[in-house]
This record gives sequence, C-alpha cells and structure tokens, in this order.
Amino acid sequence: MRYLKILSVVLLVVIVAIVAYLVIGFKMFSAVDKSIEPDCALNNYYSKTYNEARERFVEKAFSLSEKYSGVEIDKFSVPSKTDSLLFVDICYIPAQGVNAKLLILTSGIHGVEGFAGSAVQLLFADRFMAERMFDSVGVLLIHALNPYGFKYCRKATENNVDLNRNCMVNTELFNTKNNGFEMLYNLLTPAGKVDVMSLKNQLFPVIAIKSIVTHGMPVLRQAALQGQYYFPEGIYYGGKKYEPQIDSVRQILERVVGIYDTVLNIDLHTGYGEWGRMHLFVNPIGDSVVEAGLKRVFAGETIDWGSGTDFYTINGAYVDMISAMFGGAVVLPMFFEFGTMNSSTTFGSLRSIHTMILENQGFKNGCKSEKDKANVECNMNKLYNPESAAWQSETLRDADKMFDKVFDNFIR
Ligand SMILES: [Zn+2]
Repeated sequence: MRYLKILSVVLLVVIVAIVAYLVIGFKMFSAVDKSIEPDCALNNYYSKTYNEARERFVEKAFSLSEKYSGVEIDKFSVPSKTDSLLFVDICYIPAQGVNAKLLILTSGIHGVEGFAGSAVQLLFADRFMAERMFDSVGVLLIHALNPYGFKYCRKATENNVDLNRNCMVNTELFNTKNNGFEMLYNLLTPAGKVDVMSLKNQLFPVIAIKSIVTHGMPVLRQAALQGQYYFPEGIYYGGKKYEPQIDSVRQILERVVGIYDTVLNIDLHTGYGEWGRMHLFVNPIGDSVVEAGLKRVFAGETIDWGSGTDFYTINGAYVDMISAMFGGAVVLPMFFEFGTMNSSTTFGSLRSIHTMILENQGFKNGCKSEKDKANVECNMNKLYNPESAAWQSETLRDADKMFDKVFDNFIR
C-alpha cells in the first residue's frame, strides 16, 4: 500500500514535470540567432508596408524597361469587400535574343510572406538584371499574388483561401477529402474569440503532444498542412474554385510562357525550415527530365525532394499548376523557402501551427482584447516576416548566392 502511494506521487511529479517542461519550453521558444552581423545594404531591399513594396517594384520595373527592349509592365486588381487598392503587379522582360528559356519569380502567394519575397525580387532585379545582361532568357516577375494577405498580415486571402492549395491542376480535385483534417478539426479550428492566455492555449503543447503520441507526427503534419476543401473557416482551406488572382495570372501565363522551351519557375516563401537559411524544396517529382534539369541548375545544393522525415506534400500548389499548364515545355518548379522558426524541431513546429490556428481564429471570430490581437500579429510576423535585421540579411545573403548559381547554370 505504501509503495503504491509512493509510486502515485512519483508518477504525479513526472507528469507535472513533463507538462511544465512543455508549457515553459513552448512559451520561451525562440529560434533567433543574435550573433549574426546584419548587412544594411541588403536589408534595404526590405519594405515596411505592402504599398511601399509595390511602389518600389514598379519603379524598378520602369528602370529595367530603359535597359531591355519590349518590357511589359502590367497590373491587375484583386477584388475585395474592404479595400479597392489591392494589386498584383507584373513585369515581363522578354528574351532579348532567341526565345529559349524563361525564369518566373513569384512573391507573396502567401500574403505576409511577400515582405521577404518582394525583397528577393528587388535584389534580383537590382543586382542581377540591372548589373548583368540577360540575352536569351526572358524573366517574368509576379509581385504580391495575395496583396490582401501582404497588406493585412495574413497568409490566406480575404476569402480565407490558401492560394498555394488553390491551384488545382484538375478543378474536380476541389472536392478532395482530407479525413485527417476532419479528425483534428477541434484542435485546428477552435471556437470563440482568441484569448491567448486561456488555459487551452497555455496547454496547447500538451494537447498537441497527446495527438502526436496518438497519431504520429507525420500523420498530423500531413493532415494539417496538405490542404483541405471542406471547411472554409479552417486553416489551409483551398477553396472550391480558383481565386480571382489565379484566374488572372493563368491568363498572363498562357500568353507569356507558351513561347519558351524551358522554364525555371521559382516561388518565394518563408516559414519552413531552419531560421535564417534558404531551403530548396519541391513537391515529389515524377519526371526524370525535370529532376535532371533541377539537379543541373542547383548543382551542389541540397534539394528537399519531398522524402525527408519532416516533409509533407501539398495539393493545389501554384508551381505544379504551371507545370501542368505547359506540358510541352520542360518546367522546373522550385520553392525558395526562408526558414524562421526551426520548424523541424518539436517546439518550432508547434509554435508554427499554433500561430496559424490563432490567426485564423482571430480573422474569423475576432480577438478578446487589443492585446490578444497584437499578440497574434506579432507571432505572425515572427513566423513569416521576422523583423530581425540578422534574419533579413542572412536570407538575402543566401538568395544572392543562389541567384549566382541560377545565373551560371540557367541564365548565362
Ligand atoms: Zn508560403
């Protein structure tokens, strides 16, 4: 009897210790590396707002039109219930010689990730297109594909659609069922207003770990992130039809891409992977010519081919839609992902998903107080648009190096 008593006390102490470790570790987690020296010249490519980023992009496009012939500068508006000044801006620089190859560089498909994406586009236009000569390669720059999210610190659109789950190759796939998401619905879609300090939110790591132990991390990650088409109020909702900007961008792509034999299609993102590092990844590739092409362009670099332990595949990816649209050409899809939260660690990945859940809950139901609202926005920025000068420099250093490689192996 006495032993049983001691055993229960020990068990209780162990449980309390685990819960305390999870709650405190989760709360205190930070991926920031403070030892890195920022580079002001690079950080200058970052804009403070969507409007500023837009202005600078258009200005750079006009300056490129003085150097290259036939440059097309265009824009289309994205309809909104609240804002009539949301635009996707386009700059197309046709190949100056033979129409052989095209580079597509897209930013802000996940709105708030557009700060980094826009900076990368400016860097590319400034340090590569303006300083060097592009002879036989056309360039299509698409700026802020989700301007609402860019302007209002959201990843999804005003209609709560994740554009990178919305680009279905076959539109019948908008009825795809994600049973895993349904299973996790209550965890991923809490009811009521956001109350950051609520017991449920404080205990989020404990509740989530319980689900991880029950189902396994790969199952959970896949269920939450692959995209879902049945719950418009939930995260990673892919919609039931193309969002207006996907319809518009498809028309531009139809007109521009078809004349090229080979296309390198780079989509710029933040939030996945190691803090301050740029990662190359793709959805699993089934075509050996495309795989060989990517290996040639990114020779010597680590590409995540979608087979790692912390990887997940997604439905409705924008780059995959473009590959499917131009079956006759060799289209090389690639995500440039700038890591922020060390998402391969347990705390990093829990913080990422919790941030997404609360932002979505706040957008849908509102926040209990201004403090809760500020907290949600602050965490969104930490996850997708870090203000750390060191992070901004590190990511652009990596992008600069990668474009050097792209220039040598694809453009020149
Ligand atoms: Zn993204």
